[in-house]
Amino acid sequence: MTETAQDVTFTIQRSETPKTAEERAAILENPGFGNYFTDHTAVVDYTVGEDGKGTWHDARVEPYGPISLDPAAGVLHYGQEIFEGLKAYRHADGSVWTFRPDANARRLNKSAARLALPQLPEEIFVEAIKRLVSEDAQWVPSGDGEALYLRPFMIATEAFLGVRPAQEVSFRVIASPAGNYFGGELKPVSIWISRQYARAGRGGTGAAKCGGNYAASLIAQMEAEANGCKQVLFLDPFNDNAVEELGGMNVFFVFKDGSLATPALSGTILEGVTRSSIITVAREMGREVTERKITLDEWRDGVASGEIAEVFACGTAAVITPIGLLKDETEHIGSEDAKAGEVTMAIRERLLGIQTGAVEDTHGWLTRL
Ligand code: PMP
Repeated sequence: MTETAQDVTFTIQRSETPKTAEERAAILENPGFGNYFTDHTAVVDYTVGEDGKGTWHDARVEPYGPISLDPAAGVLHYGQEIFEGLKAYRHADGSVWTFRPDANARRLNKSAARLALPQLPEEIFVEAIKRLVSEDAQWVPSGDGEALYLRPFMIATEAFLGVRPAQEVSFRVIASPAGNYFGGELKPVSIWISRQYARAGRGGTGAAKCGGNYAASLIAQMEAEANGCKQVLFLDPFNDNAVEELGGMNVFFVFKDGSLATPALSGTILEGVTRSSIITVAREMGREVTERKITLDEWRDGVASGEIAEVFACGTAAVITPIGLLKDETEHIGSEDAKAGEVTMAIRERLLGIQTGAVEDTHGWLTRL
């Protein structure tokens, strides 16, 4: 799809019924994750004109509230939807920053290409976040491990039942205060191996961040929870049970020689921004990091022999989470009582330090909001 010159001037329509300072304080006391939303939302619409050219227009910040959609809107029928997830952090001096929004903008556009949605200029993505967070700055929490979670998403709004890419699309950003994911202590989690359900197949949408991937993963996640596990691990059963990723996180292995490995970007896993940041940070810390195929057999045998010393998961929501036990009906790899590994914790501290302003950002990863 072609785009014409873009106007990124946002109009601001303030909410007439924002939460009171007391209501907001009560929410920020214990926000949890994804339960509450700020007073505003950023919106930019897209329309393909008669000349076949698409334009982003009507950039605005408006009061948070229900979306009015035609019942025939494409997103409701053919799932033409993509999204992103990133956070705004409050630093010690009160300033608010976000981490690598350009990487999320690029990934959104990769997802858009796969889902036949229009490309969104990176500057509109970043400006939408800036505008929204500047309106709702008081919603950015300041406690340890807390942040304002930002959820940009793009949906097909055109009312049309033919199966083809929508010519009307809406890009939106909503924001939700997020508490400390771990409530203090960082305890290794147990992970369930999904044998019956795959998340992605070759040529499918595994590398895109589209709602359909998550809809398809819910049943496996339910199975994991029914078996006392926090998340589910997806394998590629057609490729020697290669480790892919968790329902919402990438996976890293730390070997006894101090090197790290993570599953290569095969086209069936999501390229996590946290994953790519960890590769950079770990190398700076003098560690060798390889992106390669890692099978379930290597995981099992490596833990048994001591070759694999630590395993952790990573993603925006929880940053880095140690994995204690990996299991299903037949496997039992690692232990529920495992302690968070030293290397895992050192990388976590460094990355979290950059995000929260405690460690110098030598990469220009932070953008002030
Ligand atoms: N894999 C999946 C399937 C995810 O949903 C996420 C979370 N976006 C990740 C990996 C980690 O990505 P990021 O580090 O960008 O949050």
